[in-house]
Amino acid sequence: MDLDKYDIVVIGSGPAGFATAVRAVQLGAKVAIIEKSFIGGTCLNCGCLPTKFLWQALKLKQRIQKSYEYGFKVNSEPIIFSDILAKKDRNIANLRKGMRTILSSYNVDIIEGVASFRDKNNLIVSNNEGNNILEIFANKIVIASGTSPSVMKGFAFEGNKIINSTDALNLKEIPKNMLVVGGGAIGIEMATIFSGFGCYVTLAENENCLLPNEDREVSEEVKRNLIKQGVDVLVSCFDALNNIDKYEKVLIVIGRMPNNDLKLERAGIKTIGKGFLETNEFCQTNVSNIYAVGDIAGKSLLAYTAQNEGAIAAENAVKMNSISIDNSVIPQVVFSMPQSSSVKVSNFLKCRDVIYGKFPFTANSRAFIEKERSGFVKCAVDKANKKPLAFWIVGAHSDELINFASQIIKSDINKISRESVFHPSFSESLFNAYEDAFDKCVDLAKKI
Ligand SMILES: Cc1cc2nc3c(=O)[nH]c(=O)nc-3n(C[C@H](O)[C@H](O)[C@H](O)COP(=O)(O)OP(=O)(O)OC[C@H]3O[C@@H](n4cnc5c(N)ncnc54)[C@H](O)[C@@H]3O)c2cc1C
Repeated sequence: MDLDKYDIVVIGSGPAGFATAVRAVQLGAKVAIIEKSFIGGTCLNCGCLPTKFLWQALKLKQRIQKSYEYGFKVNSEPIIFSDILAKKDRNIANLRKGMRTILSSYNVDIIEGVASFRDKNNLIVSNNEGNNILEIFANKIVIASGTSPSVMKGFAFEGNKIINSTDALNLKEIPKNMLVVGGGAIGIEMATIFSGFGCYVTLAENENCLLPNEDREVSEEVKRNLIKQGVDVLVSCFDALNNIDKYEKVLIVIGRMPNNDLKLERAGIKTIGKGFLETNEFCQTNVSNIYAVGDIAGKSLLAYTAQNEGAIAAENAVKMNSISIDNSVIPQVVFSMPQSSSVKVSNFLKCRDVIYGKFPFTANSRAFIEKERSGFVKCAVDKANKKPLAFWIVGAHSDELINFASQIIKSDINKISRESVFHPSFSESLFNAYEDAFDKCVDLAKKI
């Protein structure tokens, strides 16, 4: 068996592992990345990107159906879902190729196989049949092995009737009906997409609202839009799985569990909670030469925080713990229809003397022209120093607008000013909501 030596070996090529590998080479390290499945991880292959492709296809369908509002006469042919899926797969394959090109451009060695620890510096790589094919020595190891769909007790995924999010993204046909269990971001995205393409969807959540960690006005607006779209939304629902015979598909999206089957004990790595890896502010595990980044570290389960942690771990692995992670301002987006987003300072719940402003997209002229008048921007402001503390946005382009809101909050400014926001734009509504907190918005009718 060969014994290859590296400065840094990364386990997993999702956003966390990819960023680690590239940044580490930029800093001068010799790097290998081990991947047991497809380059790009969950995000590219069965998460962020395929869901957004299908959401975009749905959006286009709706725009075509409403194109008469601009004077077009379009006779749209019936939709062939398998054609949309084939396009999705083609797009994802191209993006995968792009990631491989970037890794190769940096001379990252891509090793295909399943990684596990022999000890804190040596990794074994085996093939899918479980045979060891390679042993690698690494000064530093970065674990970026991600997560998989959580299983509900008594309802194991068999890929036919009881399915997970990955199975759902690969269905060849739109089912007649589907029960979606879990009213979090993924459940809502799936319900939106499948119902939009003609499936009768029941969405069941056992908390008393969708998106339980979100602002109540946002979760109510999302629920209202889903119901308008034809989704049967059940909240405080504990018995949805009692009667699954009536559904063609049952999609269970109740969270993610860590991919920690790496023989961690051989390296002495500690886990916490449901098996996520414990890390410090430098993304370092309890074993000093081993770092853990992205979903497996269980902090926020998002691609962009995963990528950030990857780049930071690379810096720390190469330059001995020089940068710590800052998760104080993280935007959240859900691809409902329209999208809903939020961002707030991390200590928001402790903030006192907060005032609120709100601006509906019905009063935004660009939204009027784009026929995207549903939703609102809500803003929380510190009354004493006028600093924006949080934004919630439900509406078209809110996934982009929230990045602007994030920068406003992060930049520590204590005022958004009118002249710096282009007209006509959706972004103006952020300013309008902020002004409304002080009853100074000139684009709203006088309050009675
Ligand atoms: C349906 C869905 C939609 C989502 N949408 C969004 C979104 O819009 N925006 C967003 O920010 N996040 C989204 N997410 C979450 C996002 O996909 C994850 O947070 C992100 O992929 C985490 O990146 P990661 O690199 O930590 O792990 P992953 O992307 O999961 O990558 C881990 C990689 O490690 C590999 N691996 C695991 N074990 C081993 C081993 N032993 N040996 C070798 N390789 C191994 C896996 O095969 C995988 O490729 C979504 C997730 C899902 C499921």
